[in-house]
Amino acid sequence: MKYYSTNKIVNEVSLEEAVIKGLAADKGLFMPNKIKKLPAEFFENIDKMSFQEISFRVAEAFFGEDVPADALKAIVYDTLSFDTPVVHVHDNIYSLELFHGPTLAFKDVGGRFMARLLGYFVKNSSDKRVNVLVATSGDTGSAVANGFLGVEGVHVYVLYPKGKVSEIQEKQFTTLGRNITALEIEGCFDDCQALVKRAFMDEELNEKMFLTSANSINLARFLPQSFYYFYAYAQLKKMGKADNVVISVPSGNFGNITAGLFAQVMGLPVKRFIAANNSNDIFYHYLRTGNFEPKASVCTIANAMDVGNPSNFARILDLYGYNHENICNHISGATYSDQEIATGIKSLWEEHKYLLDPHGACGYLALKEQMQPGETGVFLETAHPAKFKDTIDRILNADIEIPLPLQEFMKGTKDTVPMSKEFSDLKNFLLKQMLYTHETFY
Ligand SMILES: *Cc1c(COP(=O)(O)O)cnc(C)c1O
Repeated sequence: MKYYSTNKIVNEVSLEEAVIKGLAADKGLFMPNKIKKLPAEFFENIDKMSFQEISFRVAEAFFGEDVPADALKAIVYDTLSFDTPVVHVHDNIYSLELFHGPTLAFKDVGGRFMARLLGYFVKNSSDKRVNVLVATSGDTGSAVANGFLGVEGVHVYVLYPKGKVSEIQEKQFTTLGRNITALEIEGCFDDCQALVKRAFMDEELNEKMFLTSANSINLARFLPQSFYYFYAYAQLKKMGKADNVVISVPSGNFGNITAGLFAQVMGLPVKRFIAANNSNDIFYHYLRTGNFEPKASVCTIANAMDVGNPSNFARILDLYGYNHENICNHISGATYSDQEIATGIKSLWEEHKYLLDPHGACGYLALKEQMQPGETGVFLETAHPAKFKDTIDRILNADIEIPLPLQEFMKGTKDTVPMSKEFSDLKNFLLKQMLYTHETFY
């Protein structure tokens, strides 16, 4: 299958090129040039299939022309070797818990899939060594680093702002070693992101090395997120609850919800979607006014959604023919202040003993507010509440438990490369690394 750029200036590229490049040369985002519908038979039997079986069928529709079935199957099965339960919360509201992977957040799915797909392409072309650059405010870095750990021919550089990520998050990508290098930047998250963007634009660097992004702009990271929408539907069907399904997605960069919208185009019978924002309400504002006005992000307690210019908006526009009304027919919006998020977490815990994280809380609140009689609602619980222990403890006046996998990370020793926010420092470092890794190929 070929992939075009949302800016439509450059020519279509192969899957391999789209994954290795991340962003198109005209700065657009890659889109598949067709989205295959899955047959009625698939939806009739979906409730009898495992998560892996469902996901393999979906993956085949996207990647089956470019990756042999046995390799693709291995990639899918290996990606999804952890639980993703659908939990009844109350009334007609369900939680799809996406936090049972290694770093306890949904980004594990896309991170692991991308790592395996990129690893497959690198292994099959002997001349390529790929460097993944990723700027993180916490969750993305850990999911990408853990996904890529030990993948041959790929080196990951995680850029993060010194002193501005939680200790739990920091340990998840600074203790791994091997092909993962953490760069501790003297600056804020925006500085890290600016460094990564400049690296992608730097001619000399790009002549000498393959650089790619592992943000949700990379289609290999965002697209596999469609798997769990099918899976959620299958679980609801099993319970006789599959009519009028509404899915609420806590959204920041809009990669997650865009994967759900793709699933709907493939035939998944979802009635509508809700994009739940924190105070960063750019998309909410767009739905109301038709104007997309990016601005600087504001800090909230749902910090993985602190995005002032959601990248995947370009994909949503493209998917719906740049038509505002069409977009409003598929997606409604919501926005919540920190105070509302905190109240939501507290009341759901007190009334129904279900513990939300600050991101999932936005998804939950939006469903509660917008669901109509006869609808079944699912919100995506995107991270384990313990990842935000300080916030949750404060809201509930409690001391919540840290799950074992997180405790394990806490035992590791932090190992980072301290760096200024000057681009020349990053560039020189990368060029030196390249010489070094060419000599010692693992
Ligand atoms: C990244 C993230 C989100 C937002 O997902 P997008 O794809 O950027 O919209 C929501 N919740 C958590 C916990 C995240 O880490």
